[in-house]
Amino acid sequence: MPWSSAAAWPVAPPPPAWRRGGWRVSLLERHAALAQEASGNPQGVLYLKLSAHGTALSQLILSGFGYTRRLLEHLQRGLDWDGCGVLQLAFDAKEATRQAQLADAFAPQLLHLLDQQQAQRHAGIELAQGGLFFPEGGWVHPPALCHWQAAHPLIQVLPHHDAVDLKRVGNQWQAWHGDTLLAAAEVAVLAGAAEIKRFPLSAALPLKRIRGQITRLAHTPSSTTLATVVCAEGYVAPARLGEHTLGASFDFTNDDLTPSAAEHAGNLERLREISVDLVQRLGAEHLAPEQLEGRAAFRCTSPDYLPIVGPLAERSAFDQAYATLRKDARQVPDTPCPWLPGLYINSGHGSRGLVTAPLCGELLAAWINDEPLPLPASVAEACHPNRFALRELIRGKP
Ligand SMILES: Cc1cc2nc3c(=O)[nH]c(=O)nc-3n(C[C@H](O)[C@H](O)[C@H](O)COP(=O)(O)OP(=O)(O)OC[C@H]3O[C@@H](n4cnc5c(N)ncnc54)[C@H](O)[C@@H]3O)c2cc1C
Repeated sequence: MPWSSAAAWPVAPPPPAWRRGGWRVSLLERHAALAQEASGNPQGVLYLKLSAHGTALSQLILSGFGYTRRLLEHLQRGLDWDGCGVLQLAFDAKEATRQAQLADAFAPQLLHLLDQQQAQRHAGIELAQGGLFFPEGGWVHPPALCHWQAAHPLIQVLPHHDAVDLKRVGNQWQAWHGDTLLAAAEVAVLAGAAEIKRFPLSAALPLKRIRGQITRLAHTPSSTTLATVVCAEGYVAPARLGEHTLGASFDFTNDDLTPSAAEHAGNLERLREISVDLVQRLGAEHLAPEQLEGRAAFRCTSPDYLPIVGPLAERSAFDQAYATLRKDARQVPDTPCPWLPGLYINSGHGSRGLVTAPLCGELLAAWINDEPLPLPASVAEACHPNRFALRELIRGKP
């Protein structure tokens, strides 16, 4: 985006009149409780898929990791999370090369290489390879993080509130279910993963659902030696409340959230790729996939794998206002952006919401309150909801 950093690029509408600290939040949740969808797994991994080239995504992951990690210190270690470290195995030559580049690019306190012997000592199980170790990584019980974040005197959680329509009335946004007004406010944040496409104003955002399934495996006396999260194509975490979580499948076509035996079998295969020794310790070769327990949910991803966070413009008015870019992408139009006043997005956290979503909540608060952004402007712009509309104009798409 050659002109995105120019002064004229309208990244934010004028702030509403109130300031941070005074906001009263109504959190509309369609289920009986929070964290019943993607955030409902028993364990998720604080996993850092970094790039040695300092991309916006890599910068976001790095900052988000530090932010989530500090938040977790408020939660109960061993039950809600554990900073047991994450070991990414160098499972093929390409991965080993990538890991060596990362080890050159980042501080050893964040990540460092372990040879096979060292990796085994850290993980507490036999492994076929070494890999990249993140000593500050670990696992999180996502519902605990969601409940902790929502437990604020000014936040009212409203379960069984399924927002079907979003209307602009006067200077307020109203969420409706049929004839029932659920809530009304000057500012509305759409944070319902891919479900936000149900609202016409956000329907054009290119969010995609990807089904994923985890498998829960009862620990055994010999599996309790597992001391870190270990990842290859999948992951396995040290036991929480007597169960290990194995993850996770990727299914781009299936819309059904009933756990399937085939995907449990796939997760067991991912476990075998991680460690044959751990398969034996868990007795997993004798487990029938159709008897296994687990859960499936949808990840929500964007085409560039960055989340979508910030203020939203009215799409057709945006296309009209900046139509000149279709002819000449180098122009820097000074036309005011047709913002949808007070409407914000926080979605598209893909497979790494534990790392990105909490910091993106801070980013959103900064956009709303016109405060300094908690991330470099280039990263905030890379996450901006208008980026797809802008790219389509520049590429001359109708
Ligand atoms: C199988 C699987 C494994 C994963 N593993 C990891 C991992 O190891 N590490 C990691 O960092 N991330 C992982 N993720 C991704 C992570 O879980 C997500 O990025 C994160 O949970 C996204 O949070 P969210 O709040 O955006 O979406 P969700 O958790 O899906 O929450 C959206 C909420 O909005 C509500 N809602 C939606 N529409 C409406 C409406 N109209 N009205 C009212 N309420 C509404 C839903 O009920 C839901 O509670 C995994 C995801 C899956 C599916």
